[in-house]
Amino acid sequence: MARRPLVVGNWKMHGSAVFADELSGAIAHGADDIPNVDIALCPSHLLLSTVARGIKSSRISLGAQTVSEYEQGAYTGETSASTLGEIGCRYVIVGHSERRHLFGESNTSVAAKSQAAIKAGLIPIICLGETQSEHSKGATNSVIEAQLEPFVEVGVDAFKDVVIAYEPVWAIGTGETASPAQAQDVHAFIRSCLMKIDSRAAELTRILYGGSVKPDNAKDLFARNDVDGGLIGGASLNAEDFLQICRSTP
Ligand code: PEP
Repeated sequence: MARRPLVVGNWKMHGSAVFADELSGAIAHGADDIPNVDIALCPSHLLLSTVARGIKSSRISLGAQTVSEYEQGAYTGETSASTLGEIGCRYVIVGHSERRHLFGESNTSVAAKSQAAIKAGLIPIICLGETQSEHSKGATNSVIEAQLEPFVEVGVDAFKDVVIAYEPVWAIGTGETASPAQAQDVHAFIRSCLMKIDSRAAELTRILYGGSVKPDNAKDLFARNDVDGGLIGGASLNAEDFLQICRSTP
């Protein structure tokens, strides 16, 4: 069964309300001509409602960049999955490498966040990927297996309606991109890991590539069999670049 391409913009902690209003409006307008791809924008939490207004009555979905693993309670500064749903989010990124490396998120807490998102009816975009030194040691597959391990323990429910993003840490914001062949190899490996749990989930789960995707390299990456779209950082902050990347899906 064909998987529908998905391109997600991760705005990180960039932009003001004015910027978010203009950028989401421009992307929403341009996206009308690209019907073959699902598109989502993930601004920082306080810009979610601005972007929700900007994309209203367009075909673009809203996503957040992180979520609490807890449903509610005394967790100062956290945001629950149900609140993200209320504000209009369909997706939430979990386990982005910046969350793992700068804010100490573990494989276990990333899996817990993913489960909290699913329980609230959101689609988690689960980020996986190895660092430069792990890459140099040839440890990519074992790092990915370890990152998937807590999901595997949950079983098939952990993969019912999720998106996976392979984001080699050495390629994020560096201008260095995995080659299409490298990306395809890792994506196929991730799919083989899913296959051990549930063949249907393996077949249906969209696996995005992220890491310095730009208008000039997107087409070759997205042409690979197991690359179902992209998670885009820097280039998602420019409407024309982001739309060009969306147009690069097969
Ligand atoms: C990201 O932050 O998820 C990302 C892929 O960033 P960039 O596209 O800037 O490398």
